[in-house]
Amino acid sequence: MNQGDLHTHTTASDGTFSPEQNVQRAVEKGLKAIAITDHDTVNGIEGALKEANKYNDFECIPGIEISTLYKGQDIHVLGYYLDYKDKNLIKKLEELTTVRDQRNKMILQKLNGLGIRIDEEELEAKRCGDGNVGRGHIAEILMEKGIVNSLPEAFDKFLGKGKVAYAIPDRISPIDAVKIILYAKGIPVLAHPGIYDADELIPLLSENGLAGIEYCHPDHTVEQVQQYEEIAEKYSLIKTAGSDFHGFRNGEVFHGDIGSCSVPLSTLEQLKNFYK
Ligand SMILES: [Zn+2]
Ligand SMILES: [Zn+2]
Repeated sequence: MNQGDLHTHTTASDGTFSPEQNVQRAVEKGLKAIAITDHDTVNGIEGALKEANKYNDFECIPGIEISTLYKGQDIHVLGYYLDYKDKNLIKKLEELTTVRDQRNKMILQKLNGLGIRIDEEELEAKRCGDGNVGRGHIAEILMEKGIVNSLPEAFDKFLGKGKVAYAIPDRISPIDAVKIILYAKGIPVLAHPGIYDADELIPLLSENGLAGIEYCHPDHTVEQVQQYEEIAEKYSLIKTAGSDFHGFRNGEVFHGDIGSCSVPLSTLEQLKNFYK
């Protein structure tokens, strides 16, 4: 299978697999490439690259998924092949992590207001090394406390967009995220456009340097996959795909398993040729 999964999370953000384990799972699944795209951090990349080096004919793509805000919506921008050691990038990401922690506090306050007590220390205990913490970890705590039975239930009842404990702090715009990725010589791609109500962003971002859209994602319907394939062609954008793997929590996979959405290796070539 000459395919690659361009969207996976590790313990550096809210995945449950280490960067090395993500690479191992991709190899086991017969993939030829995997991108590590943790939320607002590049801390998982080095471990994954080292692990990938152990295998012949397997590529690990350094990536990121930056959280932004546009018209009250949480919009994610993926970046590929970025210079993850760039000092300016690291500084920007540190600022974003501060916003992330601020959001967690807002969510915990809302939950506390609903009579569900989760202390900041409890959430902090979920942090893995220099990784960051987010909604996935809060969902896990809700499961552990028996308040919900599954991760989707945590999002459906409390943490999802518009739900009772949903909170969104002031964030950078998607255009800013595209710029941050471009400054770090990365290739910006709009993540899972099907889960927003903001298709007008696609032409706007493509005028500002967007290279592609993630047309295929586990949360997209068959119709949406087709629709975003057409939109990508209309704006000459690269079509990317990824599972949005977050590991397993209580035996459940959130979004998709590694390889459940993938691209042919020619897509990697298209991404690499973006600057040529
Ligand atoms: Zn996302
Ligand atoms: Zn993601």
